Amino acid sequence: MLNNGKFVDLKDYGFLQTDFLAFEALLNNRDPKNFIPGRIIESRRERYKVICEYGEVPAEIKGSFFNNLKEGDLFPVTGDFVVLKHNSQGASLIDAVLPRRSRFSRVDFLGHSEGYAKNVREQVSAANFDYVFILSSLNNDFNISRMARYLTAAMQSGGFPVFVLTKTDLVEDFNVQAAEARKLAREVPVICVSSKTGFGIEELSPFLEPAKTVIFLGSSGVGKSSLLNRLAGEEIMEVKFIREDDSKGRHTTTFRQLFRLESGALVIDTPGMREIGLWDSKEGISLAFAEVEELFSQCRFSDCSHQTEPGCAVLAALEDGRLSPEQWKNYKAQSRENAFVMNHSAYLKQKQEFHKSIARNNKIRQKRTEIY
Ligand code: GDP
Ligand code: ZN
Repeated sequence: MLNNGKFVDLKDYGFLQTDFLAFEALLNNRDPKNFIPGRIIESRRERYKVICEYGEVPAEIKGSFFNNLKEGDLFPVTGDFVVLKHNSQGASLIDAVLPRRSRFSRVDFLGHSEGYAKNVREQVSAANFDYVFILSSLNNDFNISRMARYLTAAMQSGGFPVFVLTKTDLVEDFNVQAAEARKLAREVPVICVSSKTGFGIEELSPFLEPAKTVIFLGSSGVGKSSLLNRLAGEEIMEVKFIREDDSKGRHTTTFRQLFRLESGALVIDTPGMREIGLWDSKEGISLAFAEVEELFSQCRFSDCSHQTEPGCAVLAALEDGRLSPEQWKNYKAQSRENAFVMNHSAYLKQKQEFHKSIARNNKIRQKRTEIY
């Protein structure tokens, strides 16, 4: 037991003074005896596991939550701090979600037909992390455009990105790949590691501070689970990685989860972090490609399309090697994708509004016919 008769100090789980103030604000004059702060450490559909002063407790969302839901973004996800109505007998109730300091979102395409998605929506899969580890393996799977996409997502999320290049033991020399990664963004650290030999693992420690939260991004097979196990020490043994019995020996985490490493750092690993489809990433693109967008202001024409125009700073930079064709291609691809997702989303919203207004009018009309 800790001080004040508490079992768990939520500060160890990243709960800051500012979060406490936000918590108090959300209580809104209700009896503080009934409500406590907590952090979601696991979510599966609408069932949650929350860490709070009483330890880990099962929780559900209170019914009225659904009624008040406007945008999907306040639906609780792993990493969220919440107002919890504690129930020692059964499931506690999640009453409200505290404002997020960071969040990882991707686009979710719904209802495919004839190769086209009928709907797009934002899917938030983790919240309130400090660092974003972008994992990429150094061997044949090394893919710089994929890393550029993860970088944009990381920049958009509000976390601090770190490139982690894995499996150093499988390559003779990793300087070329490391240099390529460094070129993506000057201020982003690049750390090369091997979970097998332990090479470079120590260099991650500045980012694995007590009560700081890290998310791991990377496609399947990059070595996320191996690195997690390497970093975890004893505690992770409780973390159940369900091994899928395919010959590749890959494992997937079936629930979203947040857990503590030996160092006291917190890690979030959810299935959503293996896929990447950028959601509203305009800001992230601007941050990840700051050097590219800087060039735009130097073009002679303000509406330059950077294709054939005289005095185009992009073409000049491509010519003299300040901008790599790869980087330019990545920038264009991501911008195009973002425009598509956002237009699609705006279009669908409009359509939904239209249908709502029709429904409203029909109701009014119906009422009128009932009266007359
Ligand atoms: P995940 O899908 O990202 O969780 O990747 P895993 O951790 O399951 O690793 C995928 C494969 O790569 C497994 O066969 C691992 O044994 C292997 N692997 C992971 N890290 C390393 C490493 O540092 N060196 C080598 N040689 N293999 C690794
Ligand atoms: Zn131009």
